[in-house]
Amino acid sequence: MAKRTFVFGLDGASWKIIDGLIKKGSLPFFKKITSQGIKRNLISTVPPRTAPAWASFATGLSPAKHGIIDFFAEEDPFGKENREIVSGRMIKGKRFWEKWPKDVGKIALINLPLTYPVSKINGVMVSSLLTPNGRKWFYPNKLGKVLKSVGYRIEDFNFLSKIYLSKTSSREKFLEIEKMANAKFELADQLISKKDWQFFFLLFSETDWIQHLFWRGQQTIKIYQQIDAYLGKLYHLLVKKYGARNFYFFIVSDHGFHSSPKTYFNLYPWLRKEGFLKPSLKVSLARIFRKIDFRQKDKTASRFNGWGETNLLKIDSFGIRINRRVLNQDFDRFREKLIFSLKELKYENKRRVFGLVTKGEDLYPGGQKGRLWDITFLTNPYFAIGPCSIERKIFVARTTGIKAIHDSDRKGIFLAKGVGIKKLLGDCLDKDIYIWDMPALFSKALEIDWPVGEKKRKIKTGLARSLTKKEKEGIFERLKSLGYV
Ligand SMILES: [Zn+2]
Repeated sequence: MAKRTFVFGLDGASWKIIDGLIKKGSLPFFKKITSQGIKRNLISTVPPRTAPAWASFATGLSPAKHGIIDFFAEEDPFGKENREIVSGRMIKGKRFWEKWPKDVGKIALINLPLTYPVSKINGVMVSSLLTPNGRKWFYPNKLGKVLKSVGYRIEDFNFLSKIYLSKTSSREKFLEIEKMANAKFELADQLISKKDWQFFFLLFSETDWIQHLFWRGQQTIKIYQQIDAYLGKLYHLLVKKYGARNFYFFIVSDHGFHSSPKTYFNLYPWLRKEGFLKPSLKVSLARIFRKIDFRQKDKTASRFNGWGETNLLKIDSFGIRINRRVLNQDFDRFREKLIFSLKELKYENKRRVFGLVTKGEDLYPGGQKGRLWDITFLTNPYFAIGPCSIERKIFVARTTGIKAIHDSDRKGIFLAKGVGIKKLLGDCLDKDIYIWDMPALFSKALEIDWPVGEKKRKIKTGLARSLTKKEKEGIFERLKSLGYV
């Protein structure tokens, strides 16, 4: 009989925090699992952000195939506004539970990002981040009573604003996060005690929030200790219920984390200075009269509507797309030269600005054209790409209230325990594991063939209900406050 599989996600959990705390003796359960089980890096997507990473976790596909690059759907490079918030409907390709046979057994999917809108499954589903306010966020209906009894709150936009934007004190924010982690534990505890699950997934988002707000502070340590205790309790509950030999236990995170960069690198003036960007008249004018609002109050690179007329179609925090229609030279040569220059680029002749610079198709072979950047990059953690397209200075000091981000860190965590775990991991045993390997791994654990080459699902854009303009603006502001926009 296939073994039961229990997977706990810790959003943004990083060995940078965990290893030190294990050494100090602050995380007894992590200590036990790392010494008895398999410990690896779980390599995230580019960009290493929550939405594309968990979409890869669910589909086994890279962002170039599932189509989720960030919290927003791909915008029209020619400047038309399309900042649609992504949802489960936009994921191209089936999620693992949608591919599994009906008789696999009961499945719990709790707080997996991009599971809004929730669907009917043999088990329970609780949606997550990016659920619009006031929409149905769990299945089946009778789960509502349990969720209420444990004080579970959906991580919709209202909730996120409470954590990040409101003027509540650090103390209140910490208590709110602590309470949320507790509700998740209580829910898992009840569900595991009362029902028999073949596959169980629950994500603690709290590690991500607390690190954004406090990074290596006491608050972060407390939340890790709290979750360590919860995972220990749940593990022992499973041992008592099924026996240690009869289930697999995984702990994973979707990306790493690093302290907030202190310096902005502005691509626009650098590209101009190096002769890579030939701006159109419109771009030049915007630069000269930068106090003038060309498009409402927004002058960020991604929203400025002049790029379609230049030789570089899209310039953002993770890549560049070249406008072949305007480029009046050999594409390959131009691209090689630009890649070389980005790789060589140093701040004050010392520190390299980029940790990774590569062709989009080399990073994600087989990705769909138009979903890939021509050049993809990740900055070193000391730098962030500046948001202002018409900034004149190449390097600018960066100030933000957010203590840490994860844009430059693909190293998430992977821990696995269970009898036969080495055999299960097979080829992956000695190396880093990628987040898109997860569906195949879980399927193997449940003795299900992981089918390849299935018919691709058509992309549907749009939410069950479109967000109002005000809602979109609110979300935009919240993401901006996190440094995501
Ligand atoms: Zn995340």
